[in-house]
Amino acid sequence: MARVTLVTGGTRGIGAAISRKLKEAGYTVVANYGGNDEAANRFKAETGIPVYKFDVSDPAACEAGIRTIESEFGPIEVLVNNAGITRDGMFHRMTYEQWSAVIRTNLDSMFTCTRPIIEGMRERGFGRIVIISSINGQKGQMGQANYSAAKAGVIGFAKALALENAGKGITVNVIAPGYIATEMVQAVPEEVLKSKILPLIPVGRLGEAEEIARSVLFLVGDGAGFITGSTLSVNGGQYMA
Ligand code: NDP
Repeated sequence: MARVTLVTGGTRGIGAAISRKLKEAGYTVVANYGGNDEAANRFKAETGIPVYKFDVSDPAACEAGIRTIESEFGPIEVLVNNAGITRDGMFHRMTYEQWSAVIRTNLDSMFTCTRPIIEGMRERGFGRIVIISSINGQKGQMGQANYSAAKAGVIGFAKALALENAGKGITVNVIAPGYIATEMVQAVPEEVLKSKILPLIPVGRLGEAEEIARSVLFLVGDGAGFITGSTLSVNGGQYMA
């Protein structure tokens, strides 16, 4: 299945695992990234997956980046909205910059990356959109009012978009990962991880990026056409929403 697939933030962490998994399965994968050229170039050399730098919080840059990708590879049929950041802090000390950076990158990006693609999907009568949310958007998290707001927001977005496009062969689903072993989680101090996070996960370990990638592969498949507007929790039993 050579469907043209865009993975935002597809060069590192969970996104890189998704890009690799979909490529292995035969999809024509293109990976976007934000600014880390070194990681992106390493990823490109290792995988042969083309990489495109544009900021998912910048509407004009996304429009231009997506048009370039489509002119080179053809219409995007599968979109994985994965790019995300954290700027943690207790809300009573949070700056507007922390708030706004997270909302723009994690929530505005739903508009900037999906809007240039959805009309073509509707015209062609096929599309698969998967959005990477977070357990912390489902249950809230101390120090992450900005991130929890954005990650809850994408779930509402997915449900509305799923309804609007259900009759057009387009599915829109969310994956809500728990704690996954990537740089984002490795930034958490080891002691906090052992004493505060691992005891909360019934399966007793962090998840692997590969486990998120397998879930994405399932949801983008032709056989998943009856699944839309759903949120799949992949969190080791930590939160059963
Ligand atoms: P990483 O920090 O490892 O990778 C983030 C990726 O997103 C990078 O490719 C990065 O590009 C890209 N990115 C960040 N900001 C932008 C931007 N403005 N424009 C374009 N690309 C951008 O993150 P993870 O793999 O850990 O997280 C991936 C997704 O999964 C995120 O949405 C995150 O919120 C979510 N998630 C992660 C969990 C975890 O435990 N790790 C748990 C739950 C959800 P560059 O390399 O250029 O910076």
